[in-house]
Amino acid sequence: MKAVARLLCSVHRFTPVALLPRASFFSVLFACFSPCRSVADVVCTAGNPRCLRPVDIPQGPPPQPGPCETIGGTQKLRKPVIERSRNNGSCSLMQTSQAQIQIEHVSRLFGQTAALDDVSVSLSKGDFSVLLGPSGCGKSTLLRLIAGLDRQTGGAIRIGGEDVGDRPPSMRDLSMVFQSYALFPHLSVAENILFGLKVRKVSKAERLARLDLVAAMMGLTPLLARKPSELSGGQQQRVALARAVISERPICLMDEPLSNLDAKLRADMRVELRAIQQKLGLTVVYVTHDQIEAMTMADKIIVMNAGRIEQVGTPEEVYARPATIFTAGFIGTPPMNLFPGRLFAGQDGLPQGVGDAQLIGLRPEDIHIAESGPEADTRGIEYLGADRLVSARLGDTDFIMRAPASAPPPPARFAFGWAQGRESIFDAATGARLTQFDHPTASNPKKDLTHETA
Ligand code: ATP
Repeated sequence: MKAVARLLCSVHRFTPVALLPRASFFSVLFACFSPCRSVADVVCTAGNPRCLRPVDIPQGPPPQPGPCETIGGTQKLRKPVIERSRNNGSCSLMQTSQAQIQIEHVSRLFGQTAALDDVSVSLSKGDFSVLLGPSGCGKSTLLRLIAGLDRQTGGAIRIGGEDVGDRPPSMRDLSMVFQSYALFPHLSVAENILFGLKVRKVSKAERLARLDLVAAMMGLTPLLARKPSELSGGQQQRVALARAVISERPICLMDEPLSNLDAKLRADMRVELRAIQQKLGLTVVYVTHDQIEAMTMADKIIVMNAGRIEQVGTPEEVYARPATIFTAGFIGTPPMNLFPGRLFAGQDGLPQGVGDAQLIGLRPEDIHIAESGPEADTRGIEYLGADRLVSARLGDTDFIMRAPASAPPPPARFAFGWAQGRESIFDAATGARLTQFDHPTASNPKKDLTHETA
């Protein structure tokens, strides 16, 4: 069996990653028995739940020691990161690690299909960065490139300022958590969490010390002797997370880790995940198509569409000041309403010169019933408890207004009003935000006075 595996290994070493079948029987078999670990990791990343290799990626030579690490001829292990982040001393892994990730003009072609097309973004150390976009926009491809599980066809990826193009996953100092928790069903919770450390030959005393800390932090202490089948989905996901945390990698990549959970558990896990990330100062890159996850957890959201980046910003920025009509429509439930500029031409409160060539974007909560103004027709009302969503029409444009349920329902016809200064103005031809029309805010006090409101 070993000889066969070695033969397979030597073949696989020369197999371009892109050619590896996503979930073929042979890949899974190979992944689970392969002695050439980095390739096994690659196969595992196909996200096949049957592939049970741990995601700590413990293989390969250790990363270069930081200034506070003593890694000699025999590999000495670093102290638990939890300890160091608590004592806040100068030897903190989170302080010394170069965890910033730079994506520079990265492209990934699959034949004629551009999964990523000239993508550039910089992800800051200690940030929770979320790659958000619809299915097929290239989120997972970008995550796989950062992990080293796939190779870009153009551009460069730097971690801590160093080009990691030639580094296998094991040399990138990161851990991963997948949607399929990838737990060993025959191992206990404790054994699952410790698996990566055992492979890396961390001493037993060190393993147990780290386990104590991580299990307590994750609320897993009473569950350590159980098997994964005896856990709820949320508990299993916490074990997967604990396995990543215990590895003490400064960067953690997560691909839709909560999508198998029910709504209540997802909400709980969002809070837990964010708390743990902040406590440890982890640099997290998180893939999701769920905007609630992005809005509630992210320091920075990277909105993606068709292999390109539409906008990078805080949740507040992408919501209040979408850079494109794609972001305006993708972020927000219901999405931002878009009106042709001519419907508003000449209205008080709009910048001069807005007309047919522009689109006016208004969030549902920024529209209200006014005392006077253009007349809108009510078409339907949805009662949501705290508020009502009113479907209405202005001219030939349908829109949705959010109104407090405590207010009386709108009549069949009402005067359209909006919170002036909250509108977003886009170029109708390109879909790009026309920032010269932006009103000043606390975070963006500059305003182009040549476009003063009328
Ligand atoms: P989802 O949310 O559905 O997982 P995603 O945003 O993560 O989508 P990717 O998996 O990154 O999207 O895929 C981006 C594009 O690249 C898609 O059009 C996909 O079909 C294509 N693609 C991804 N992997 C391959 C592959 N191995 N071979 C060919 N095309 C691929």
